[in-house]
Amino acid sequence: MIIIYDIFAFFFGAAIGSFLNVVIYRMPEGISIIRPNSFCPKCKKPIKWFENIPVISYIFLKGRCSRCHSRISIRYPLIEIITGCLFLYAFIHFGLSIDFFFYVFFFCSLIIISSIDFSYQIIPDIISMPGIFIGLIFQIIKGNFLPGLIGMLFGGGLILLIRVIGGKVYKKEVMGVGDVYLTAMIGAFVGFPLILSAIFIAALIGSILGIIFIISTKQSRESPIPFGPFLSIGGILVIILQQKIVQVFAFLGVYQ
Ligand SMILES: [Zn+2]
Repeated sequence: MIIIYDIFAFFFGAAIGSFLNVVIYRMPEGISIIRPNSFCPKCKKPIKWFENIPVISYIFLKGRCSRCHSRISIRYPLIEIITGCLFLYAFIHFGLSIDFFFYVFFFCSLIIISSIDFSYQIIPDIISMPGIFIGLIFQIIKGNFLPGLIGMLFGGGLILLIRVIGGKVYKKEVMGVGDVYLTAMIGAFVGFPLILSAIFIAALIGSILGIIFIISTKQSRESPIPFGPFLSIGGILVIILQQKIVQVFAFLGVYQ
């Protein structure tokens, strides 16, 4: 029986992921999220309900629009699968608790922010700013207000510091204001000292990919690499790995 709940949690998450795809596609274009119903971006054909079943429809349609046969971006099923997996994770670990709802909100916000940052190099403040307050409310409910507040101030403050110093040294924008709010939001949700791990993971993945990019293309990249997706991966990984990370911190004497 348990497995049925798990499958349901995954597909519920995948359906939410399908909605996140709509938000990711429409928010930067300024199109309403509610209307019109989903349509093919190429031929504008409205997508019927049975062509819109998360993950499954993509497989049956072989990744192409049923009318104009143009390719449907792999991004759609990918985001549905990622969202489904994160819902399944949250369901297995938190059950249908208050933690579940706050964490899936956190995960969904990060998926939207990193996808938009990846494509447009913009971090939508309309998600990260309310996210900071929702993160702090979550910490108040859990009785962890102080670690949440310090995590928020430390995360936002550190990125702000890098932005100011980097701007002076390199005479260009190394970190956007959006990264400051995003890191503050992640800090509010994961608290201190986990925010340190989140930023560390983000910097590590960012540097590795940056080096691979420079080696493979034999040039330095002109446009800045968006940092939002790395911060988001860092934020999600510290939630999933928090027990392990806390053990490391305890070993180092940061935690008692
Ligand atoms: Zn089409």
